[in-house]
Amino acid sequence: MTTETEADCLFCKIVAGLQPADVVADTERVLAFRDIDPQAPVHVLVVPKEHHGDVSVLAAADPELLAEVVAVADEIAHDLADGQYRFIFNSGPRAGQSVFHVHGHVLAGTQLGWSPA
Ligand code: C5P
Repeated sequence: MTTETEADCLFCKIVAGLQPADVVADTERVLAFRDIDPQAPVHVLVVPKEHHGDVSVLAAADPELLAEVVAVADEIAHDLADGQYRFIFNSGPRAGQSVFHVHGHVLAGTQLGWSPA
């Protein structure tokens, strides 16, 4: 789902350096930065630098890039926590997606609960 143009997209602006972010990983095609409203001791968003609206769009358009997003998430969980982590994509408003540039949430650093509904 894509509801924002790239020009309107907050995460495109972060990728472009036009908005501040606490960056923890930066590769040729992927950026990761700390969530401004952390839900766990480690809460990092991992985004492809290219604009794709959600994970379904990215999976169809560029599965290799999605695999790179997952690999960066795994590295972060090992670098910033103990390698035990949750990696989630909210896909669509009913799933809680609020920024329509695909991003995975790395959550780690504590015992995680499980109450998504
Ligand atoms: O999955 P969802 O789209 O709801 O996640 C968006 C995330 O982006 C939220 O966790 C929010 O705290 C985060 N965010 C951020 N920096 C911003 C705006 C939103 O880290 N400037």
